[in-house]
Amino acid sequence: MDKPGRNDPCYCGSGQKYKKCHMKEDQAAEKERSLVQRAANFIRRDLLTFARDERFTEDFANGLPLYWNEYYDAANAEQMSQPEALRFFDWFVFDYALENGRRLIEIYAEEKMNDLSSHQQEIAANWVNAGAGSLYELTAYEGQTLQLRDYFTGEEFTVYEGGGRGNVELGELIITRLVPVAERMELSTTAAYLPADEITDIKEKMDAAKEAHLAENPDASHTDFMRKHSHLLVHHALQEAKNQGRPPVSRLDANRPDAKMQQIARGMARFKR
Ligand SMILES: [Zn+2]
Repeated sequence: MDKPGRNDPCYCGSGQKYKKCHMKEDQAAEKERSLVQRAANFIRRDLLTFARDERFTEDFANGLPLYWNEYYDAANAEQMSQPEALRFFDWFVFDYALENGRRLIEIYAEEKMNDLSSHQQEIAANWVNAGAGSLYELTAYEGQTLQLRDYFTGEEFTVYEGGGRGNVELGELIITRLVPVAERMELSTTAAYLPADEITDIKEKMDAAKEAHLAENPDASHTDFMRKHSHLLVHHALQEAKNQGRPPVSRLDANRPDAKMQQIARGMARFKR
């Protein structure tokens, strides 16, 4: 909806000029939204800094090859591209169980809460309870608003993404995590893209993993399962890329600049922030 001018009649139908009616309220809401957005972006950055603390070095070295199915490990971690690193750290922070059995975001919230502003506290508290990384089908979109359906639970989400749908087509999938920011959902970080012809047997693979997980943990929720196994989505994407004969991740050979490869690399980071 376009905002009326100060001296236009207010949209609410009161007959008053906008400036005498809803203008102040709207401005306050807009300011609040921008504060919450800034708080969310701060927490995204601060979590990254926190995750790189020395005390998590061992966990980092254990988590890397697990997430990347050995493609990256502590020895070549610096070769991750920026979107790859962002996706890895997102999983490492939100889903990965550290050696002490806890998740990094839980430790972050516990230790940092008192240093945060009220808006930042609200984001951190909500994100501790954010869902696990999952697979989402794009079912509709309009501008920066995406309609996503959880590929496993069927749950529908209306999601705000500044970059819009990128090149993702209806019916195609993205690997991502949804986090609440004020009253809307956003992607927690750069999403990975699974084109239609690379979806193949992902459902069967995850169903089998879930069955095995439930056999050992009969009371596990779907979220528990996804936290422990969301890296399998990445393994699937890596395998499919390999089957297609293209580099499985966006790492580029700097000595052989190749427009097609660069296009692929960009394609794997459809949701750059
Ligand atoms: Zn009004």
